[in-house]
Amino acid sequence: MYIVDLHSHSNVSDGNLNPDDLISYAAEKNVDMIALTDHDDISGLDLARKKAEELGISFINGVEISVTWRSRTIHMLGLNFDPNNQNLIKGLERIREGRIERAKKIAYGLAMVGIPNAFEGAKSFASHQVIGRIHFAHYLVSKGYSKNIKSVFNKFMTKGKPGYVEHQWASLEDAVGWIKNAGGIAVIAHPGRYDMGKKLYPQFFQEFKNFGGGGIEIISGSQSLNQIDYFADFAQQFDFFGSIGSDFHGHGVSHRDLGPLHKLPEKIKPIWNQFTQTS
Ligand code: AMP
Ligand code: MN
Ligand code: MN
Ligand code: MN
Repeated sequence: MYIVDLHSHSNVSDGNLNPDDLISYAAEKNVDMIALTDHDDISGLDLARKKAEELGISFINGVEISVTWRSRTIHMLGLNFDPNNQNLIKGLERIREGRIERAKKIAYGLAMVGIPNAFEGAKSFASHQVIGRIHFAHYLVSKGYSKNIKSVFNKFMTKGKPGYVEHQWASLEDAVGWIKNAGGIAVIAHPGRYDMGKKLYPQFFQEFKNFGGGGIEIISGSQSLNQIDYFADFAQQFDFFGSIGSDFHGHGVSHRDLGPLHKLPEKIKPIWNQFTQTS
């Protein structure tokens, strides 16, 4: 079986493995083709690609872009793009700057409930430029405010809790535009996580299609496998390619391991058949 995993994270964003160690682990798990898709940052791609070439795995450039659509946070994967594209690089830089502003507001919210120094604390858990809620979660666990990452999210880091702030990420149009401009394909990550309902999903997919979106992640480690048919039907309706990704974040922090989850339904066109330069 040819094993494809087009969604994974390293410590460039909120995973806990170095980009090259992630690839070594993928080789251990017999993955044939992998994309590294860190949140809003592509600086791990070079190191990961070198290791993939060394180990004979097909490597696909990837990124997971934070997007706001009608007040909802959507995660959009970019796959198989030119990582030197200035449009994309600048767009991602802006999002990372926004993350720092958001982090300061998160720290303020936590300070209001008696948790000091959370900005510096979270930063100390971020290995690179991306600062996210996971880094706050690690800091809070380290200080004993919660016993694990899952409970710290529930208690502090989700909507309505002291360490959550509304944030304006990239627009859907801009994010798709950057990926397309860089020669890549835009894919909606874990579509089952957006809780849009029967009316909004078709509107969302139609807008994504109109802007030039190309695929949806039908099989995802971070959504329930019983949603496969629901999103396979949308893929057919809007003529999207289907993608598969574990959303692996490293040892001890992921729901799912790297590697195969489930096969795409027969009727769906696999997105990886579009990738011509895979080494
Ligand atoms: P951010 O982009 O900084 O808002 O962080 C989003 C990331 O936090 C996701 O990609 C997950 O890695 C992680 N995350 C979100 N919700 C949870 C949760 N309930 N438990 C653990 N990790 C979560
Ligand atoms: Mn993440
Ligand atoms: Mn995501
Ligand atoms: Mn992800």
